Amino acid sequence: MSGAATLLRDVFGFDGFRLGQQEIVEAVTAGENVLAIMPTGGGKSLCFQMPALLREGVTVVISPLIALMRDQVRALQELGVGAGALTSGNTPEETDAVWEGLEAGTLKLLYMAPERLAAGSVVGMLKRVGVSMIAVDEAHCVSQWGHDFRPDYLRIGELRRTLNVPLAAFTATADAETQVEIVQKLFDGIAPRAFLRGFDRPNIHLAFSAKNSPRAQILAFAAARKGQSGIVYCGTRAKTEGLAKGLRDEGHLALHYHGGMEAEDRRIAERRFQQEDGLIVVATVAFGMGIDKPDIRWVAHADLPKSIEAYYQEIGRAGRDGSPAETLTLFGPDDIRLRRSQIDEGLAPPERRSADHARLNALLGLAEALECRRKTLLGYFDETDISCGRCDLCDTPADVFDGTTAVRKALSAMLRTEEWFGAGHLIDILLGNETDKIRERGHTSLPTYGVGTEYDKRQWQAVFRQMMGHDLVRPDTERHGALRMTDAALPILRGEAQISLRRDSIRIAGSMRRPAVKMMVSEEDAPLLSALKAKRRGLAEAAKVPAYIIFNDRTLIEMAEKRPDTLDAMARVGGVGAKKLESYGRAFLDVINGASVEMHPTRRKLAGREAGTVFDRLLEVQAELARGFAGTDKPLSCSASLLAKVAQLRNADDTALERLLGEKRAERFGPAFLDVLREAG
Ligand code: ADP
Ligand code: ZN
Repeated sequence: MSGAATLLRDVFGFDGFRLGQQEIVEAVTAGENVLAIMPTGGGKSLCFQMPALLREGVTVVISPLIALMRDQVRALQELGVGAGALTSGNTPEETDAVWEGLEAGTLKLLYMAPERLAAGSVVGMLKRVGVSMIAVDEAHCVSQWGHDFRPDYLRIGELRRTLNVPLAAFTATADAETQVEIVQKLFDGIAPRAFLRGFDRPNIHLAFSAKNSPRAQILAFAAARKGQSGIVYCGTRAKTEGLAKGLRDEGHLALHYHGGMEAEDRRIAERRFQQEDGLIVVATVAFGMGIDKPDIRWVAHADLPKSIEAYYQEIGRAGRDGSPAETLTLFGPDDIRLRRSQIDEGLAPPERRSADHARLNALLGLAEALECRRKTLLGYFDETDISCGRCDLCDTPADVFDGTTAVRKALSAMLRTEEWFGAGHLIDILLGNETDKIRERGHTSLPTYGVGTEYDKRQWQAVFRQMMGHDLVRPDTERHGALRMTDAALPILRGEAQISLRRDSIRIAGSMRRPAVKMMVSEEDAPLLSALKAKRRGLAEAAKVPAYIIFNDRTLIEMAEKRPDTLDAMARVGGVGAKKLESYGRAFLDVINGASVEMHPTRRKLAGREAGTVFDRLLEVQAELARGFAGTDKPLSCSASLLAKVAQLRNADDTALERLLGEKRAERFGPAFLDVLREAG
């Protein structure tokens, strides 16, 4: 497959295949029918794009989302590949260009929405233009029982029979039932060659944390990743707005997003997230389908997701480009109560409800895991043999203690009050707190009254939360959330089983130190990386494409580290294919090597001095805020000489800055500039 290796490097600009890609590319190129199941970010597109180039004729790609198709087509065109899309979003010129490409035989990939197949004329056209292969993206959309069912996907089987060409189907949804349906509907029940790639996403760091001051926890997580694209998932619409504002107040670029917003506003937010670099979206789960941004660097959950599958899908939006990405999921007793009651109060039939409880239990088990999160997570998908080292529990092993006695005391307090009370009152009983409620109910005379003084209230809360997490107790909605014991607790109550619990590292929000900002490169390379990013932003804005379509983060990082000084050296950077070298190689080389020549005279005076670095950071922060916190205000900026003055300011504070900048500029840039000056000093 030396042809493939050359294509991989020269056209796609990749050094090698990702796990599993090569076998799939070979099978598809050889004209076999293929079903490939790969996790999101595994690199599915390459598995049909490359065979399309290696084979004669046109490959039709069926894909469910117009926005994603358009992005893929643009990315291919940037690589110099003949690709086009026929969608309802096309301008007449775009459609004409597609037809011309087909006539001239220069078009290799034709993307189509499934709805197009409804028109009989389309099938005739596809026959005429010499289609030699069909690729189906998101093939699980053919499943009638799935969430993403698209009736028009049922026409694909017919298309395959009519054209009589090989078909390659791709999806990230693995369960056995869906696979069977795909084989029936797309391949007439004749099993294709199947490729199943593992579900591990090794570049994603996993972490959970019990809620103590959730807002501060999220803000601290975001502060350590300032300037990187991220998503914060929230349980309620109201919370998305509040948190987005909180993030903006701290100088982040942040938007909120939820299903209650006007369709137009939602589209604008999606578009901006896709295109811009370093934007945070604070959203409900409504945000996700249709987001195909490869360079999302982090995902945080301000509230617990609804199941382990939902968790996997949501964190899976991070790091699709394969570069390191980080996640943090917060959870607390209220989340557990909420998720349980949603299931109990839902309309699903009883057997479905108990399956939903089980899927929630799997997630809670992950939240309360005592060793490696990745092993626990993938164990749920039946994958064993995992190596990790990229989760919070591998970083710092959990501090565990034998919780058997504590759990038995808690259960006893519950049972002696006939399972009519929530954790708060039960903890008062265990601690011997003589509250009004305790006195009224005569609970001071219970044998369990005051038997739990070895722990304080916070520690008991952690014990109860973990009991809920291990499904030893469940809140009962019919009893206003009173805790009731489950059968799983019986062995512990009877003294037949032991249980280990985690000692929570109790950190008070106020004493939580601001973590240092995590850099994507060493300090020495950081200024060059931001210069490269600025160049990329300029080019992306001019071409109206997302920044990653020019070059992705990993490519820029490699440029900043290797500092190629010729076009030859540039071509050896991962992600720089022949076409991109031609289009952008020179521009980025100039940034790397010509930076000192092009330096602004004001900046040059600061060269080699601390203030020079500060100046660069100020410039960067200013660019981020050029159109205000939400990115919708009138453009505003400071002159180079003004920035130089700020960079050299001693004992900077709000008043000093306002004197220097004037009211309007101080309002927009003041707090962020102060942060820069403090970081430096
Ligand atoms: P998905 O499987 O989710 O459809 P994509 O095809 O969108 O994944 O690929 C995810 C990201 O990985 C893209 O940014 C793509 O450019 C990158 N990628 C794919 N294959 C390789 C490879 N062999 N080497 C480096 N990057 C790759
Ligand atoms: Zn681990």
